[in-house]
Amino acid sequence: MDSCLGVEQDLDKATTKFTALNEHTNNFLQDLICRVECLKKEISQNTANTPLTPDQAMVISDLAAALKQSVFQISTDHRELHATVSRVGKSIDRHFITDYASVAPKAESFCNDTNRPIMEQAIAQHLYRQGLEDVGDTFVAEANVAPVERTCTFAQLQRCAAALAEGDPALAIEWVQKHAEDLEHSPLPFTLHRMQALKLAREKGVVPAIEYARENFPAHATRHERQLQAAVCALAWCTPAAPPAPQRYTHLLDPKALGLEASELFTRSACSVVGVAALSPLAGAVLAGARVVPALHDIRAKMAHPHVVAAWADDELPLEVDLGEEGGGYHSVFACPILRQQASEQNPPMRLLCGHVISRDALNKLALGLKLKCPYCPMEQSPAEARQIYFS
Ligand SMILES: [Zn+2]
Repeated sequence: MDSCLGVEQDLDKATTKFTALNEHTNNFLQDLICRVECLKKEISQNTANTPLTPDQAMVISDLAAALKQSVFQISTDHRELHATVSRVGKSIDRHFITDYASVAPKAESFCNDTNRPIMEQAIAQHLYRQGLEDVGDTFVAEANVAPVERTCTFAQLQRCAAALAEGDPALAIEWVQKHAEDLEHSPLPFTLHRMQALKLAREKGVVPAIEYARENFPAHATRHERQLQAAVCALAWCTPAAPPAPQRYTHLLDPKALGLEASELFTRSACSVVGVAALSPLAGAVLAGARVVPALHDIRAKMAHPHVVAAWADDELPLEVDLGEEGGGYHSVFACPILRQQASEQNPPMRLLCGHVISRDALNKLALGLKLKCPYCPMEQSPAEARQIYFS
């Protein structure tokens, strides 16, 4: 974060300089053009072939000198601006690590016969999921990739989410109405109707917006009472003659922020309804990678010691990484909280009677004959009551 702020500071400097120079140069050039135009007008009033008066000759030579000087000044300023811009590039180099070779997986591992098809499938799947069907089709055809499911459902969701981000909830409302039963407990339907009412108020006036609200809001009155009141009040500030709205309504009156928020909520809710992860496997991997690589880079130097270097396995990370909410928040593998080992077929995760899950090795170690005490909630049980868990 500090690195971003550092670069942002340099970028701000460059932008400020650019804006100031742009303004100054424009005014300056405008002024020069005016002076040249005036002089031209004055000279054109002379009859043809009349020599210039000494005064006029002097004004022309003064203006020519001023022009020359200005061109020189402008090109110097421009050169200096270039230096400021290139400083931003250097600042990026200084603030960010550019060489991740020591922690990045070897590039060859993406190219071998096993992994290459997986990578290609992931890329094709990602393109389809982003709604880029044409690009996906071309990629599949040109790279000779094995047929990929085109996941049209996801493309449709993407289209709704994109329209929402652009401020148009119509497509999303249509989708939500088809899945009303699944979204019974979701805030999504109300959020979309609220957006539509505010859009109507802005575009067609408050009366159609109120009519729309009357028709669509009551179904959500019990669950979203306060938001509903706020939305109805916000409609009052949508008239052209309305004074600036109080701060608590500004969020509702900002179509862009409302659209982005609705788009995120839609993607999350709709993905959970149709049972797909919000991120494609490729996007998830990139997001997780962006989080983990800086931490890995830090730890890499500390792990150069011969005693610990063996802990750096190719298929396992030496540290735990919190992927955050948007990172998926799911585990593709189970790591035993007792032995701190990844579960495997030989050592699968076992669910104890109390609901806690540990690996079978840990269970065997903790079990004392026919008795087992859960290490988390000290519930006593029999090891035979534990059940193996399967992740699909
Ligand atoms: Zn327990």
